[in-house]
Parts: sequence; structure tokens; C-alpha cells
Amino acid sequence: MAEKTEKNLLSILSAESKMAARHTAFAQKADHEADTRAARLFRAFSESKSVQARRCLLLLRGRIGTTRENLAAALELERQAYDALYPRLIREAEDEGMKTAEMVFSQSREVAPVQAALLEKALIPEKDSNPVDYYVCQVCGYVSENRAPEKCPICGAIPGKFKPIV
Ligand SMILES: [Zn+2]
Repeated sequence: MAEKTEKNLLSILSAESKMAARHTAFAQKADHEADTRAARLFRAFSESKSVQARRCLLLLRGRIGTTRENLAAALELERQAYDALYPRLIREAEDEGMKTAEMVFSQSREVAPVQAALLEKALIPEKDSNPVDYYVCQVCGYVSENRAPEKCPICGAIPGKFKPIV
């Protein structure tokens, strides 16, 4: 791929992905303020940014692998996040005395092996291939299988803080 275009695609992939996350956060704030119209608009924009990011990713990678390849790639990323990425981020936040950032990075690191275990499970072919319901903690990102826990094992959030993924 041409050098500038590749750089620009990477830049837009990053920017659109960040905007998608930001619009989701804005939607949650609008929910808290009972502004349903704004919440839906932000959710629509978040989806739009995700679509745009996905198109860039497809151009950069040429293709998206099979689901088994993607599960394996996601597993490797979770392992790298736990082993290398988050330890560095935690250390740097600690060095700078940024306690809240250190706690957020630490909790995200603790979520990584949980997600790795779910990916490993999904990679094992099962006779019973019924879909599993997942519940995502809206505070720390912990993912629970089949039901929301009584209390998030990572951050202590209550079941009401878990979003069902169906
Ligand atoms: Zn949590």
C-alpha cells in the first residue's frame, strides 16, 4: 500500500475508534440526564464511527480472517496486554503518582486473563454450540458468562452495572 495512504488510514482508524468510544460515553451521560434524544444521537454517531473505523481496518488488512483465526488473534492480544502493555502503563502511572490511572490500568490488566479464558473456551469446538449470553461491567470492562455476578470480581460493581450482550 502507498505510504501516505497507509499512514492516513492508520490515523483515521485510531481517530474514528476514539470518537466511537467518546460518543458512547456522551450517550451514557445523556442517559443519566434523561435526554433520550441526545443519547440516541450519540449512540448512532458511535455506530457510524465504528463503521468508518472498520472500513479503514479492512483496507489496511486486506481481509478479516476466519472466526477461528480472529479468536486466536484476539487471544494473543489479551496475552500481550497482560504481559507487556499494562505492566508498563501501570509502572509509568505509578512513577508519575497518577493513582486513578494506575487503578484503571490495573483493573484493565486483571480483565485481560478473564477475556483470554473466554477466548480459549470459544476456540474449543463444542458439541453443544448454543450461544452464550455475556454481561459486560460498564465500570471496568469485566466480561461474565451466562449471568451478571452479584458483584464485579474486578471493581466491585453491582449487577445493575452489567450490560447484557445478546
Ligand atoms: Zn467491574
